[in-house]
Amino acid sequence: MAGAGAADTHVVVVGAGPVGLMLAGELRLGGADVTVLEQLDAPTTQSRASTLHARTMEIFEQRGLIDGPAGFGDPLPPQEPRGHFGGLPMDLTLPSSHPGQWKVPQVDTEEILGAWAARLGARVLRGHTVVSLTQHPGHVEVVAEHAGRQVRFTGSYVVGCDGEKSAVRRLAAIDFPGNDAERELIRADVEGIDIPGRRFQRLPNGLAIAARRGDGVTRVMVHRFGTPPRAGEADFADIVTAWREVTGEDISGGTPLWVNSFGDASRQAVRYRDRRVLLAGDAAHQQMPIGGQALNLGLQDAVNLGWKLAATVRGRAPEGLLDTYHDERHEIGRRVLSNIRAQARLLLGGPEVEALRSVIGELISYEHVRAHLAGMISGLDVRYGPADEPEPVGTRLPEVRLDPGTTTLRLLRAARGLLLVTTPDEDLRARLVRSARSWSAAVDTVTAHAGRSGPLSGHPAVLVRPDGYIAWAGGSPDGLQAALARWFVPGTPAGRPAHTHTDRPPGTPRTGTPGTSTPHTGTPGTGTPGTGTRNAGTRNVSTHKGRRGHMGNLTGKTALVTGASRGMGRATAGRLARDGALVAVHYGTSQDAAAEVVAEIEKDGGRAFTVQAELGTPGDVHELFLALEQGLKERTGSTELNILVNNAGVMGGVKPQDTTPEQFDRIFAVNARAPFFIIQRALTIMPDGGRIVNISSGLTRFANPDEIAYAMSKGAVEQLALHYAKALGPRGITVNSVAPGITRNGNPLFDIPEAVEAMAALSAFNRVGEPQDVADVIAFLASDDARWITGSFVDASGGTLLG
Ligand code: NAP
Repeated sequence: MAGAGAADTHVVVVGAGPVGLMLAGELRLGGADVTVLEQLDAPTTQSRASTLHARTMEIFEQRGLIDGPAGFGDPLPPQEPRGHFGGLPMDLTLPSSHPGQWKVPQVDTEEILGAWAARLGARVLRGHTVVSLTQHPGHVEVVAEHAGRQVRFTGSYVVGCDGEKSAVRRLAAIDFPGNDAERELIRADVEGIDIPGRRFQRLPNGLAIAARRGDGVTRVMVHRFGTPPRAGEADFADIVTAWREVTGEDISGGTPLWVNSFGDASRQAVRYRDRRVLLAGDAAHQQMPIGGQALNLGLQDAVNLGWKLAATVRGRAPEGLLDTYHDERHEIGRRVLSNIRAQARLLLGGPEVEALRSVIGELISYEHVRAHLAGMISGLDVRYGPADEPEPVGTRLPEVRLDPGTTTLRLLRAARGLLLVTTPDEDLRARLVRSARSWSAAVDTVTAHAGRSGPLSGHPAVLVRPDGYIAWAGGSPDGLQAALARWFVPGTPAGRPAHTHTDRPPGTPRTGTPGTSTPHTGTPGTGTPGTGTRNAGTRNVSTHKGRRGHMGNLTGKTALVTGASRGMGRATAGRLARDGALVAVHYGTSQDAAAEVVAEIEKDGGRAFTVQAELGTPGDVHELFLALEQGLKERTGSTELNILVNNAGVMGGVKPQDTTPEQFDRIFAVNARAPFFIIQRALTIMPDGGRIVNISSGLTRFANPDEIAYAMSKGAVEQLALHYAKALGPRGITVNSVAPGITRNGNPLFDIPEAVEAMAALSAFNRVGEPQDVADVIAFLASDDARWITGSFVDASGGTLLG
């Protein structure tokens, strides 16, 4: 396994609850291999924690987990601005893209996060109960019991996300000091009862809560003042008795779907990391699950840890990065535990807390007190790092709308670092962009216009960590470099130079373009049109107005590139994988070359697999899709294909007068017939919003009497875009043709300097094309940014067709 050293996998996560699954997804986004061990044979069917707070929803938005058919926004969960502090009603609304609290049953949260983690390539093994854990100098060994036998796993790190009774914490002997529970609440989801709703109703004998859900099930919770926690599990008879004692109502006729009891115990692990073992979620902190804070705290642990641990196992973490997980999250946990204990006392205390409740109730009516408490409960007030750093350092990056059609949160989808340069000063902007170039493997640079007001105003640039927290804000290139060095290691994407392509002297070949892009805020009247794309009027700093940071914008997407063992197909496969797509690397005969493409992609943290099919032969498309669907299914759990690049092609190489009917048919079979039937078949597994790019040739516009049959076949290919674009528009699928000019491939002709010189002379840039030149165009058409282009012929010939 890439980079895992003595271990089978980079990270073993124990526990496939929401926290473990969130962590698994975050680790995969960071390029780490992850195996999740879960003792339950099947996901929980109990509703348990059902509140998601504003910060968690922002994080989901950051990862693209709200929109789309498998997101939290489908349908949008009920939003409830009303929350409480220790049972005292309080509005939780604060400025956020998702203010208030959102009601999502834990079953749904696990399903969505589980599908996401699986799509990203996490391996979840159920029915595995961890029984031993041993730390070695370079790895951790975990033994799990599964189906009556012991299975051994080794990981570079192990993370316990296995709840308050964590086996990992126990086996790693990490202390868990705190207070035992003094009071208990019993709760149940009950079907078939019709009782009045009660919001934290304090009655003479205790506290009663009843809330009926949309599906008719009522959640009841009850506490009899002064009742200590029970030794064993509560059953329905216990809740019936307690409910009658407190409310006088009889709910014995109902059917319990789930009953449990919990107390106000409060404990926190002394350290969240012991060498190669880490803890997250309830394994790291136990608290009364009040107002949904526990689940949210755990999910945010996972997001803080994921990118740091992934960078560590991939050898891309600066010194001490992983330890910041404990430093940051232990302090946040301590603070949340303290507010939960205060709330537990207010909620479960008897008549003796009435006076305190009335004083706090009065205080909450002051807006700044309400906002302070709402910030604490919603997680929106989380701030990391030394307090002496001025704000906004350490705070979250809020959502700011950027034109066209993107937002700051969407720019974080790939869980990479983000440098947002917003200064209107062109010279400063260029210097800041230059300062970040050496970090382009880890950090995307985006230039944008910030409005005169709003969270980004007043800061020439902000550097944002992959978890969405601001690492630095300011205008000093030196300050920026110091912050970059603190959170990331320098490096450029494999095979790419540490400069934007615009620094290339005119005429020199381009081999890569690190992610620099230029959205604009949508605030009318604040941006100066065009200024984001120019540097002191001389050099382009960023390449396309409105183009998003391209690294990672295809995360979660799948792609098939035909003829990807060599040339432009190979470069396209690499580029799409770097952008985050899982890529099927198709080849006809060059098996080793295709395997090398996959190895290269994996080395760079991407995901790919090979599929073989000799196109132009009977059964070719069937064979191709058998392998493709199997490969996709194994890795994503589905056969969905988002991007198809019909690239494989053959030249004629025979003059028209010597071309035989068999040769002609072969050219058409590979270049025109195969793409037609590949599209026909792909459309059965392509969801709406898909992308189809067919590689044509400049020879449909530039005469070359030696390649008439080939040019004819490419002319046929171009018809696919025209007609299919119309047909597939209603599904949001775009179909376009890309026409390369003379582009370097393995042909020995490119080894002859005189030949290269002659070919270069045809291009306006006086050079031959590099595979990457065309791959970048294809990647653009495959991205969301190209959603408005369909049926088009894109000249990617370096100006050869200008004549
Ligand atoms: P290349 O280096 O010639 O590689 C061709 C790729 O297509 C290889 O991966 C090859 O796979 C695959 N392929 C060819 N015939 C196949 C078949 N019958 N079945 C399965 N796979 C087959 O490619 P390139 O020069 O980068 O060209 C890519 C595309 O751009 C082609 O459509 C070409 O017509 C077009 N184009 C190229 C240029 C240029 O100057 N290079 C200019 C304009 C247009 P195996 O090696 O595994 O068989």
